[in-house]
Amino acid sequence: MLYQRSSALFKEAKTVIPGGVNSPVRAFNAVGGTPIFAKEAKGAYVYDEDGNRFIDYINSWGPMLLGHAFPPVVNAVIEKTKQGTSFGMPTELETKIAKLAVSMVPNIDKIRFVNSGTEACMSAIRLARGYTKRDKIIKFAGCYHGHSDSFLIAAGSGATTFGTPNSPGVTQGTAKDTLLARYNDLSSVEELVDANTDEIAVIIIEPVAGNMGCIPPKEGFLEGLRDICNANGILLIFDEVMTGFRLAKGGVQELKGVDADIVCFGKVVGGGLPVGAFASRNEIMDVLAPIGPVYQAGTLSGNPLAMAAGYAMLKAIETDKGLMNRLEEKTKYLHTGITEALSKNNVTHTINRIGSMISVHFAEDEVVDFETSAKGDNDTFRAFFHGMLERGIYIAPSAFETWFITDALTYQDLNETISAVEEIAKTL
Ligand code: PMP
Repeated sequence: MLYQRSSALFKEAKTVIPGGVNSPVRAFNAVGGTPIFAKEAKGAYVYDEDGNRFIDYINSWGPMLLGHAFPPVVNAVIEKTKQGTSFGMPTELETKIAKLAVSMVPNIDKIRFVNSGTEACMSAIRLARGYTKRDKIIKFAGCYHGHSDSFLIAAGSGATTFGTPNSPGVTQGTAKDTLLARYNDLSSVEELVDANTDEIAVIIIEPVAGNMGCIPPKEGFLEGLRDICNANGILLIFDEVMTGFRLAKGGVQELKGVDADIVCFGKVVGGGLPVGAFASRNEIMDVLAPIGPVYQAGTLSGNPLAMAAGYAMLKAIETDKGLMNRLEEKTKYLHTGITEALSKNNVTHTINRIGSMISVHFAEDEVVDFETSAKGDNDTFRAFFHGMLERGIYIAPSAFETWFITDALTYQDLNETISAVEEIAKTL
């Protein structure tokens, strides 16, 4: 495949944008080579500036659950745009999407919309601190909750890919309030709670981790966290930015039957426009301004175009009774096919999958936390990534990411993908 135009555009971009990109992992640093510049996308495919077509397993890092340029979303945005693009005043549509979200997600009474997953998690933490009147938080190594200061401590995703899981610029003062536990290890949480009696406001977790590859919670892990929180007056935040409206209509709370105190959303909830949200029961949400003292705001929060896209997306998910099953079946099919292709060729690997999230780790041991995820063989991943790209399959350019399966994928696309894996496996 030729990437001439992408190469030229990347070179030009680097003169005026740091690293040529507005979000680091897009730059292909972990895998080398030139990032492909997207021109357009439709359904399961993304087309680059050189006219190459790729079957897309990134899907804008999650939002495109129903495929690119999903007509109900596109039409809703076009129609809304004609009425003006932003007012900074409340609109009826905000209540409509809030009601819909509250009806789909268990255990929440109110929801506030923001502009990104980062903002959602950052605001949720402030709310939890304001509500509990405590300062410390527990997060898990390898989990990513956006790029706000409190979370850039052993953060996953791009932070890990770029070797800066602890970012310069985060003050010691901030870092000392973020305590680190090990994913899928309740005793690591208990130790921190015991050593910091009455000081911990909140435990924040990706209830299915997606930022160290895909790592589902072990049986009883989320339930155990819930118990620890209940016993110690600690709030539990589920960061469902990846999993919300994807693994079930009501997210992991519904899927696993475990209640969180605050839930964060992003990605799917905006249908591809910049939207995040956080939600909880009345007692907690009413601590927020303008009712309560915890401040949080946004000029473009609840933006009409974003809300129109989000509403169309959630409505499509709510009304499509077969969606979650179809996604599960497609992902399972891919899982089986890739396993066979790699095993047949003796490529050491571990595949983690839950619902429509899947990741291929080139590691021997079971991948259950950050440490086991980091054991994956990066050289193999790099070769795998470029082999896939050459064959028109676009997966995330880092081993610390998840593949996001879209309903737009056909079984022919999946077979094409599995054939590509088979060819590459022979060379690994
Ligand atoms: N939380 C999780 C679980 C995420 O995966 C991400 C982004 N990948 C974020 C928060 C941050 O979201 P955003 O990039 O929209 O700020």
